[in-house]
Amino acid sequence: MIIVLNNRIAKEEYESIKKYITDRGAKVHESKGTEKSIIGVIGDKRDLDQSAMEAMPGVERVISILEPYKLASRKFHPQNTIIQVGNIRIGDEEPVIMAGPCSVESEEQIFDIAREVSRQGGHILRGGVFKPRTSPYSFQGFGIEGARWLTAAGKEYDLPVISEVMEMEDIEALYPWVDIFQVGARSMQNFKLLKSLGKSDKPVFLKRGLSATLNELLMSAEYILSEGNDKVILCERGIRTFVEYTRNTFDLNIIPMIKNLSHLPIIVDPSHATGRTDLIAPVTLAGLAAGADGFMVEVHPRPFEAFSDGNQSLNYPQLEELLTDWRTIREAVLILRQKKNKEVARNVAEFHG
Ligand code: PEP
Ligand code: MN
Repeated sequence: MIIVLNNRIAKEEYESIKKYITDRGAKVHESKGTEKSIIGVIGDKRDLDQSAMEAMPGVERVISILEPYKLASRKFHPQNTIIQVGNIRIGDEEPVIMAGPCSVESEEQIFDIAREVSRQGGHILRGGVFKPRTSPYSFQGFGIEGARWLTAAGKEYDLPVISEVMEMEDIEALYPWVDIFQVGARSMQNFKLLKSLGKSDKPVFLKRGLSATLNELLMSAEYILSEGNDKVILCERGIRTFVEYTRNTFDLNIIPMIKNLSHLPIIVDPSHATGRTDLIAPVTLAGLAAGADGFMVEVHPRPFEAFSDGNQSLNYPQLEELLTDWRTIREAVLILRQKKNKEVARNVAEFHG
């Protein structure tokens, strides 16, 4: 439920609306806009009387949100969320390029990749240091030592860095070293982890679970948002289907669907979505054309030697080719994004009456 407040609401009126809500066991989420302020009501709303609230002084209107996710809903927040990381704006007009190895393998390896990503115009450096592997015998990552190399490489080449946290202790340990926390597909429903990340002031990159529905993905985002962290970036990384020629199936539909239902940015990960180097380029371009706010791709100087995910990693010439292809369609994609943003602006204006 959203309460749209009058422009000239008095402080006492505002306080008594909040008190009415909290006295009845629901929670208040305040959002002060430049034109209008709104109060999001979350939690148990059974004892709230919508018409009584509509009649309260200072209230312009009350809108109910039927979806189970509230703060993640575009009804609650009609404008696009833009997340600033260093000089990069995720969710703004320019799609963001995130690239790097599946795993940080050595100081030398990550510096080499960072130099190449920066040279080719990438924006954000990825690299796993805590690795969620299917087999306990596979390489599990270099931990904090790897995070130190990752950060140093990012600093050297002016690239913000992102790395995965698998458990609650990782959040504190990685906090000094990363700009964005990644939640892997296998952790999408680790609700304790999500709640802890919700208390952080760093952006969270939330990957869709291997068999998660759209509602489940947005409910996981809601866990982070409802703890106060509004910097959530969604990621489509493919889902498990009956299809056996790729590692996962890339769900293209979810990109425009998320754009309709939510204000949060969404990034595509064609490496994990396909598991195949040869499919990365077409899937990336399709995702961008469908409205994705960027892409994350695995890169390695010698993919056949990679400690993990070598067969879905691009080598440097392949990255260059992908980025050339992207630049070929970029102008057209930007026109589509501007058209979509005009529609969003019209809806925002309507929302504010
Ligand atoms: C990764 O990004 O390397 C990773 C393990 O991804 P996912 O959680 O999507 O499998
Ligand atoms: Mn990987």
